[in-house]
Amino acid sequence: MAQETPRSEPFDAVDVIRTKRDGGALPDAQVDWVVDAYTRGVVAEEQMSALAMAVLLNGMTRAETARWTAAMIASGERLDLSSGLSRPTADKHSTGGVGDKITLPLAPLVAACGAAVPQLSGRGLGHTGGTLDKMEAIPGWRASLSTDEVRRQLEDVGAVVCAAGADLAPADKRLYALRDVTGTVESVPLIASSIMSKKIAEGTDALVLDVKVGSGAFMKDLASARELAGTMVALGTDAGVRTVALLTDMSTPLGLTAGNALEVRESVEVLAGGGPRDVVDLTLALAREMLAAAGVNGTDPADALADGRAMDVWRRMVAAQGGDADAELPRARETDVVLAPADGVLVRLDALAVGVAAWRLGAGRARREDPVQAGAGVELHAKPGDEVRAGQPLMTLHTDTPERFARAREALEGAADVALQGSRPDVPELVLDRVAG
Ligand code: URA
Repeated sequence: MAQETPRSEPFDAVDVIRTKRDGGALPDAQVDWVVDAYTRGVVAEEQMSALAMAVLLNGMTRAETARWTAAMIASGERLDLSSGLSRPTADKHSTGGVGDKITLPLAPLVAACGAAVPQLSGRGLGHTGGTLDKMEAIPGWRASLSTDEVRRQLEDVGAVVCAAGADLAPADKRLYALRDVTGTVESVPLIASSIMSKKIAEGTDALVLDVKVGSGAFMKDLASARELAGTMVALGTDAGVRTVALLTDMSTPLGLTAGNALEVRESVEVLAGGGPRDVVDLTLALAREMLAAAGVNGTDPADALADGRAMDVWRRMVAAQGGDADAELPRARETDVVLAPADGVLVRLDALAVGVAAWRLGAGRARREDPVQAGAGVELHAKPGDEVRAGQPLMTLHTDTPERFARAREALEGAADVALQGSRPDVPELVLDRVAG
């Protein structure tokens, strides 16, 4: 039997669902009500899941998406982290990818150049990693800070990576968990409103979005990534946040590692002036966008990487949250090596397959409450465009629980293509497009 909405409520959830199911646009008052009533527990989970599916299938207008975002912001507190700081704030958000450790070198780098960087981050779910899981591989580091601690660290150190508090867009926390288990994540208006409600609520001055495109991303093609980027840039700009999006390739993993401690180690290499070219290039491209959006001119982030200023901020940022930047990072107890199948050029190494393998090795979680293995993951020994020889190590798999190797290897079947020596692989550009308000 249909669940009836209590009489004291101004609308009936079933009417709202029917309107969206039949392709109509929801009036402002209904959007406000349904988001609020869901947060209060009046609209049931099964009703919201039906509505989310109707939105996924029929979309939302720009006005509906903006209103939905505003309603999610209004479900919690607004932080205004930028008020009272002596420098402008700039934040970055990635829509999620495999080996995407960019926040780790980027936050201290941008802080070293003169902006304050509040990175309220999440944990990984499924094949994409989470920044907090990566940082928690550092012995002693703690993710939970009070708002006062965040403000103080922003002023003193310039960069904070921490967990978003429970009061930041609580409607999104519930809705995202529901979408995750009802096949309703991949909807442009729902992704855009989910991400932007949290970013607008945190109160940053400037925001740079890294919208991933390719097999390892939510958005598999450039057209849908452009639509998502355009929607988010419009939401940010309309809310008074200077917002820019870069569309970047996620057909192959970023850098040479996917997994928590493995990615911290690679990030520290970048901060020390080394590291894989693609990680360095994307870190610098995003840093330049963040500094420009925050109105900080006259410093080249490449200099701050080369002369150790970014590394100094990293060390202070880790120490401020109880972490020991000099401590040995955890290593998995067992490794297994995947060999190149032939002589030639590696023309493709699929991001999704590597992400799923890292996840199955223990780097990610299947349910929100699952623990992760700090040392688990995949280390790559070649990237698309590199020459390989049959039998040379292509990847090393890391885990504490060797019974996971077989399922990880299954995920990697068909993930790599080696073509004849001398053939020219079609390696995509790292930055594919830019969308500004
Ligand atoms: N990240 C979010 O925060 N929300 C989404 O809907 C998708 C990715």
